[in-house]
Amino acid sequence: MVSGPEVHICNFCIEKANEILDEEIRSQEKTNLSSQTGGYNLIRPAEMKKFLDEYVIGQDEAKKVLSVAVYNHYKRLEQGKGKDDDVQIEKSNIIMVGETGTGKTYLARTLAKKLNVPFCIADATVITEAGYVGEDVETILTRLLQSANYDAKAAERGIVYIDEIDKIARKGDNASITRDVSGEGVQQALLKLLEGSIVNVPPQGGRKHPEQKMVSINTENILFICGGAFDGISRMIANRLNARPIGFSNAGNPEEEVQKDELLSFITSTDLRSFGLIPELIGRLPVISYLNPLDAEALKRILTEPRNALVKQYQKLFKMEGVELEFTESGLDFIVEKAIEFQLGARGLRSICETILTDSMFEIPTQADAFNLTVDKAFAEARINKSKFSKRMMAA
Ligand code: ADP
Repeated sequence: MVSGPEVHICNFCIEKANEILDEEIRSQEKTNLSSQTGGYNLIRPAEMKKFLDEYVIGQDEAKKVLSVAVYNHYKRLEQGKGKDDDVQIEKSNIIMVGETGTGKTYLARTLAKKLNVPFCIADATVITEAGYVGEDVETILTRLLQSANYDAKAAERGIVYIDEIDKIARKGDNASITRDVSGEGVQQALLKLLEGSIVNVPPQGGRKHPEQKMVSINTENILFICGGAFDGISRMIANRLNARPIGFSNAGNPEEEVQKDELLSFITSTDLRSFGLIPELIGRLPVISYLNPLDAEALKRILTEPRNALVKQYQKLFKMEGVELEFTESGLDFIVEKAIEFQLGARGLRSICETILTDSMFEIPTQADAFNLTVDKAFAEARINKSKFSKRMMAA
């Protein structure tokens, strides 16, 4: 008991009061910090690119474009605070074009991790116009809201990655008499989200809970990143380049022919339009970037180099059983060769490794004297042949 003139307080109450004060001070510091930065980490482009480099192999152009766009986007959020000038920085939603499995989603996901903002992935193909079977466009924001733990304010600064945007391209140039439920209509619906408006979002998603109370979300400060493979767009780029008087050549240097696999780097909004995206939507996606197809060298680096490279992950799993796992160069080359053969891109590396190592992962935990394992070409080939992986892939 601590006593003063006419006041007494016991040790328990002192401790409790101290805890309450501490809690109070901590939460105040937190709000101060988040009101300064809006709760996200503002990261300079060079710093962001360096971070992305640790996880994503190659794709320098896309990394640079994304780092700058994200930085500008969050600078734009800062501008709202001093409304004294007339210059308003516009939103920089991004569209990324590149074959499947080249790292579009992975880039967006890694980016969001560093920024510490709510992030969600939505698939454009499941969205339909309101009233048709499928999901309403608002459900994209439901996911964002969920990833922000239902904190609408946090969700309003989040990042949404919309995958397979190419699949909602208009099918033909002539306006169809029947309604195009999955194409242009969805593009129109998406516009509403991208351009910044207040959207009523069903927090449970879907149409199954008509009684749920809607949460309104302002999309003005949500960064949208769209990605798609845009199969066949290279041909459109080639046609456009070809149509110009200087011929099928690099604009800067007419002598130099454009290589087929470089075509994507010449992509402009015109090509997206030829592919079937409506001009209004393209206008809302001002930053266009591309991802290169992954060649054997890139795939091999993906296996070994990134911070959480597959090889490192398997080595860790085996180490937990006391087994050293090694991959020889020939073993790695074989895995890459298979991924290319079956046109699986980086996504296939995982299933190939899994096929090669499953038997060992099954046996080792119950083996009395487990010995170290080396995956060379012969070992990998034998396991792949045994598993009928090739046959499965051929059939697929
Ligand atoms: P998509 O371009 O179809 O969105 P993803 O980003 O989903 O492809 O890539 C699939 C997986 O392949 C990723 O989860 C990642 O592990 C791996 N991957 C793809 N591209 C790269 C890359 N450039 N660097 C490192 N890993 C990659």
